[in-house]
Amino acid sequence: MDLTLTKARHLLRQGEASSRELADACLAEIRSRDGAIHAFLDVYEEDARAAADRADDRRADGRSAGPLDGIPIALKDNLLYQGKRCTAGSRMLATYTAVTNATVTQKLLDGGAVIVGKTNLDEFAMGSSTERSAFGPTKHPRDPERVPGGSSGGSAAAVAARMCPAALGSDTGGSIRQPASFCGVVGLKPTYGRVSRSGLIAMASSLDQIGPIATTVDDAAMLLEAIQGRDPLDQTTANVEPFVPDWREDLAGVRVGLPTQAWGAGIDRGVRERTEEAIRMLARAGAEVKEIDLPYADEALAVYYVIMPCEVSANLARFDGVRYGLRKEGLPLIETYAAARAEGFGPEVRRRILLGTYALSRGYYDAYYLQAKKVQSLIRGAYEEAFREVDVIATPTAPTTAFRIGEKTADPLTMYLEDIFTVGVNVAGVPAVSVPCGDAEGLPVGLQLIGSWFKEADLLAVAQVVERRRG
Ligand code: GLN
Repeated sequence: MDLTLTKARHLLRQGEASSRELADACLAEIRSRDGAIHAFLDVYEEDARAAADRADDRRADGRSAGPLDGIPIALKDNLLYQGKRCTAGSRMLATYTAVTNATVTQKLLDGGAVIVGKTNLDEFAMGSSTERSAFGPTKHPRDPERVPGGSSGGSAAAVAARMCPAALGSDTGGSIRQPASFCGVVGLKPTYGRVSRSGLIAMASSLDQIGPIATTVDDAAMLLEAIQGRDPLDQTTANVEPFVPDWREDLAGVRVGLPTQAWGAGIDRGVRERTEEAIRMLARAGAEVKEIDLPYADEALAVYYVIMPCEVSANLARFDGVRYGLRKEGLPLIETYAAARAEGFGPEVRRRILLGTYALSRGYYDAYYLQAKKVQSLIRGAYEEAFREVDVIATPTAPTTAFRIGEKTADPLTMYLEDIFTVGVNVAGVPAVSVPCGDAEGLPVGLQLIGSWFKEADLLAVAQVVERRRG
């Protein structure tokens, strides 16, 4: 089944397929392929069929709900879907049922989308491989010995394996873009404030953003249109003009910057070859490509790995077995807390809570958190400066292709280095997309394109040129 959102929409409009047929096709694909991949934590067979039937009824009555009406979509399992389990990939929430919908879920439902299931992720979205899920790893769709990337590895694998045409993920430091790159699909992290975070189980609230994973740039744009917008439930959503796609035939007049800091050493050969080819394609399409200075690339990783754990330690304090989380009955209060946190959280989550708690403690707050916030404003300034010179910045999405399961779990630092090209984007709050640019030794490579604040339309127009030129 090679179904894009655009194609699904076309089939439905022309009456060449019913929503029920599309849903059944996805569910059949999930049944036949997901045993080996484990992209899904939960699949909603009955609900999906019922939702698809309702969409077909609407279409028959000529009152279709919108572009996504009757189209199957998957959600990362840190997004609330009322009445459904929401685990965030953690034992802590293994039995938690959402009492409300995330704003993005509500928007999809209002638009008639058929939610087929919830996808696997690293516990609380902390990781780059989906190996940190309490429910077992997701496998790369092309090679079961390899990871799909993470933390939205389930969403990326589900889309890459064509078990559903598109999915939502979340990105705090690269969790949409890196798995999209590893799996050979398109992943977009919108500008901070473009999409409501209400109902996203928070990792680091000042960096988290929800976005689409899809097989084409056009599809990613369609999903962004559906989920964007100011939301009174998330006061960090911005009051800006909505994103509207603005496709271009060529890139005349578009300036693309290559940060010398990113294109130095430390990129695998195959990744370098494919991404450099993609850059040459941009030049042939008329873009003016030039080297730029984007300082603080290394510092961005350090800043991220201070700010993020600090916010993690605060956000995850609510999982104490009393307000939320795994509950051990019959223990005194302090032991109830301790049991919940010791048994509910995996090692990576515990590590980050400890790091964050330490960095925020009296005497260290100034040295770590405050210092990191200061460097964050330098990083934002560096991006502002760069976007005076260029319209889009290009880097590889990740320094490597999909690595082997188990290869990086022993040493957290090597795993953190996966994020070298992606975290700066979250620290600055700008939008970025990973677009496939070919394979290296049989594994997909992604080109990361970074845009200025709220310039998703320009960004996606450039990404689409890469996609089109590859054919
Ligand atoms: N891989 C990064 C981390 O482990 C990013 C995670 C994310 O974006 N949610 O923190």
